[in-house]
Amino acid sequence: MRLVFIGPPGAGKGTQCARLVNLLSIPHLSTGEMLRSVKKQDTALSRWVASYIDAGRLAPDHLVMRIVAQRLKSDECRNGALFDGFPRTIVQAQLLDDFLSDEGLVLNMALELRVDEEELIQRLLKRAQIDGRVDDNYDTIRERLHVFKTQTAPLTDYYAKQSKLEVVDGMQSPDQVFEAIKACVARHSPQ
Ligand code: AMP
Repeated sequence: MRLVFIGPPGAGKGTQCARLVNLLSIPHLSTGEMLRSVKKQDTALSRWVASYIDAGRLAPDHLVMRIVAQRLKSDECRNGALFDGFPRTIVQAQLLDDFLSDEGLVLNMALELRVDEEELIQRLLKRAQIDGRVDDNYDTIRERLHVFKTQTAPLTDYYAKQSKLEVVDGMQSPDQVFEAIKACVARHSPQ
C-alpha cells in the first residue's frame, strides 16, 4: 500500500506514522528526516538545504522529488511506502503522480490529520524544549504553520478530487486517532 500522510507540524504525524508502518510493514519515507540528514553533511548542497529548513521554508520541489525517487526505486519500497511530510505542494503531488504512473504504480490513499492551530503551537513549543530542534522556535513555528496553510493544505482538494482523501480528527487521544486511521486504511487497501 502507498499512502500520503498530510498534517501540519505538531499534528502527531510522527507517532501515528510509526504505528502505521509497523501495522502495514512498509517503509516510512519522511522527507523532513531525509533533508535533515542531507543538512548534516558538510557540502554546498547541505548548506543550501539548511538555509530552507532553518527558516522553516520549503526546499525546492524538484530536489525533494529527486531524493524521494531514489528511495522509491529501491527494493525496500517494492510493496509500498508511507510518505510523511511529502508531498508538501501541488507541484510535488503532481511530480509524485507522474513518477508513480511512469513506474506503473498507484497511490492508494491520502490521509489528513486535522488539529486546531492553538493546540499545534503549544505542542510544538513543548517539543522544542524537549528535543531542542532549531526549527521549533516561535517565529519558525509560525512560519511553518503559515507555509502549511498556504502551500500544503490545498493538497487535500487535490486528493479529494481523486477520491483518495480521508480526514482524521487529530485532537483525539493517540489511540483513538490510530483506530480511526486503521478504519481508513481498511477502506483503501489494495485487494
Ligand atoms: P518536517 O520534519 O516534515 O516538519 O520537515 C522539516 C523541514 O524540512 C520543513 O520545514 C522544510 O523546510 C523541509 N521539508 C520537509 N519535507 C519537505 C518537502 N516535502 N518539501 C519541501 N521541504 C520539505
